[in-house]
Amino acid sequence: MGSYPDVKVEVAKLLKTQKGKCAICGLHFQDGDLWEVDHITPRSKKGKNTLRNKQLLHRHCHDVKSRNDGSYEGCA
Ligand SMILES: [Zn+2]
Repeated sequence: MGSYPDVKVEVAKLLKTQKGKCAICGLHFQDGDLWEVDHITPRSKKGKNTLRNKQLLHRHCHDVKSRNDGSYEGCA
């Protein structure tokens, strides 16, 4: 309980794919940064729950994207 090994593997893969950079602002993730896994095509727009449709973003970058791509509709 309370551990999500799949999520960690996913995050590790995304980090490697993105070379440790946020997909929005292009800055490297630093120790202590908050990050979130984003659906590139939002689930509310029939985006798939696959690694190919995911990217790792700073939490604040994710907030900006979500506000603009309709993510908040239907999954709030
Ligand atoms: Zn960022």
